[in-house]
Amino acid sequence: MKALTVQGPGQLVWVEAPTPRLSGPRSALVRPIASASCDLDRRLIAGVTPFKPPFALGHECVAEVLQVGDAVTSVRRGDLVCVPWKIACGTCKQCHAGRATACTSVPRHAAYGVPAGGDWGGLFSEVVDVPFADAMLVPLPPGINPLAAASASDNLTDAWVATSRPISAREDARVLVVGGTESLGVLAVQMAVAAGAASVDYLDDNDYRRDLASRSGASVELESVLDERYDVVVSATRDPRALHRGLLALAPGGHCSCIGIIFEDPVIPLFGMYLRDVTLSVGVCNVRPHIPKVLDLIGSGQCDPLLVSPTVVSPDEATEALLQPLAKCIMVRERIT
Ligand SMILES: [Zn+2]
Ligand SMILES: [Zn+2]
Repeated sequence: MKALTVQGPGQLVWVEAPTPRLSGPRSALVRPIASASCDLDRRLIAGVTPFKPPFALGHECVAEVLQVGDAVTSVRRGDLVCVPWKIACGTCKQCHAGRATACTSVPRHAAYGVPAGGDWGGLFSEVVDVPFADAMLVPLPPGINPLAAASASDNLTDAWVATSRPISAREDARVLVVGGTESLGVLAVQMAVAAGAASVDYLDDNDYRRDLASRSGASVELESVLDERYDVVVSATRDPRALHRGLLALAPGGHCSCIGIIFEDPVIPLFGMYLRDVTLSVGVCNVRPHIPKVLDLIGSGQCDPLLVSPTVVSPDEATEALLQPLAKCIMVRERIT
């Protein structure tokens, strides 16, 4: 089978790789039919992360199920499923506590498309093994466009959790989204609106994303002084200075969800945050339990992921498309079941 791999900085190559087999009775083999680029992917391709090549790329997709092990009960051949980015068993103590990201049945950080905890393949590849099918896979409800759901594996669900948690804990939340990565900020705007924010402002100096944020329901014409104005800030940027500005924008009792990955140790205005009694949350998203809700939001039209992923490409076009700046794109392949 063919796997899309990062071979070096800027080198994205389809290679022939061994076709995965069922790894056990709880596993399933799936064929991604709509694979989306995560905002992290261009950084992985560029070689500016701690994760070094070679490795298979991709950790967002909707797939068709090709084969299941004897113990799998929730899906069968031919089903369409969302595949979470994180490999997790669903039965260990950490998984039971809702921390699939710390699952103890697999190496720490075991995931698709990132060489952090073993080689699990990438979700642009033709075939992928899902070792804990019942715990991981989420069947796609009828009527949901697989392309729209491709990012439920990671970015879209991350945006939902980062916005809905702090918004639901507050009345009439005033929200500021600090954009910067390809899609997360605009998706966060959509999710903040869906979660019932009283207002959503969007801060970003990129015109393309400002337009998408505006079409998603945000106000983009901001006053220059933002300090202490927002109950919820979603920081979807890699720029430490933009995160800093977002933290200063928190009102007393506010919450900042930091979902843009920053590899450095940025300056955090801790004393001012202390005086305002604010919270900063940061961390990888435990997506699996939240994917059904996100699929509901897509189905009811409360979010429109395709607004931020308008580029749809074939496997042959993917190597070029994934190198384009600003692009969050979707690669499709035909079903065989
Ligand atoms: Zn990701
Ligand atoms: Zn586990």
